[in-house]
Amino acid sequence: MQRRTLDVVRCPTCLAGSLVPVEAVSDRTVSFGPVHCVGCHARFPVAEGVVDLGAPPAPKAGLGKLVQAPWLARGWERYLRQPFNSALALAAAPLTGAAAAVKGLRPGQQERELIAVLAALAKPVDGPIVDLGCGSGQLLAALSREHKDRWLVGVDSAASMLDEAVGTMREYALTADFLRAAVPPLPFLDRSLAGVVALGLLSFIRDPVVLFAELARTIKPRGLLVLDTIAWHRKAPQTRAGLTAHPVDAVATGLTEHGFIRVESQALGGIQLFTAERP
Ligand SMILES: [Zn+2]
Repeated sequence: MQRRTLDVVRCPTCLAGSLVPVEAVSDRTVSFGPVHCVGCHARFPVAEGVVDLGAPPAPKAGLGKLVQAPWLARGWERYLRQPFNSALALAAAPLTGAAAAVKGLRPGQQERELIAVLAALAKPVDGPIVDLGCGSGQLLAALSREHKDRWLVGVDSAASMLDEAVGTMREYALTADFLRAAVPPLPFLDRSLAGVVALGLLSFIRDPVVLFAELARTIKPRGLLVLDTIAWHRKAPQTRAGLTAHPVDAVATGLTEHGFIRVESQALGGIQLFTAERP
């Protein structure tokens, strides 16, 4: 964890001060903790550079529980996220069966989404780009390869996913900082982020309004947002097995109502990819 990233983290206890290492260290990075809040002195452990801000216990059932499983971390981004999303979009397909996942798989969709994300983030804005729900770090690795000098931060609630993400970055000699936290709220100070990418996150959130408000609070003026959701074109949200499909129109309206500008979206198979900016 780079010290500059600790400078933009908001303490989850007092919702104010940023974090500093408890021990005075001169290094620009912090590999092991703890760190504490400059305001309320709450302490948070650091291991392998990952700052643990705490996350509520995993749900006892559904996909929320499944994504915490260590065995899933290695294959989630590469093989499983897309078929799960597609299966939900198909609505008629039960999420619990492997057959449904295979049926929903659309080869090439994930690659197209990645190209669109990289294009959306091509505009340089000073500050960290945060991958919310970074999972096993595949997107961060791609961003780091494409934009070598970008300041990248991954956030996820699953420790097993973060272990995998740290390993992925190390394996390819790439750099990103990682925080363990459940979102929303976002563990960052107001107007501190150059951009946020959240792929696959919205499906795990029942009430997206809280997330939109947090994105509006934390992204800097002219900062960027890339967000995807299941391409669900009915009027009401639908929840299955812990995943929620939000109406595409409601997502667009929600972003606009929270002050985002240049809200645009494109359909990529079963996924709707939104890009937006802060004014
Ligand atoms: Zn504090």
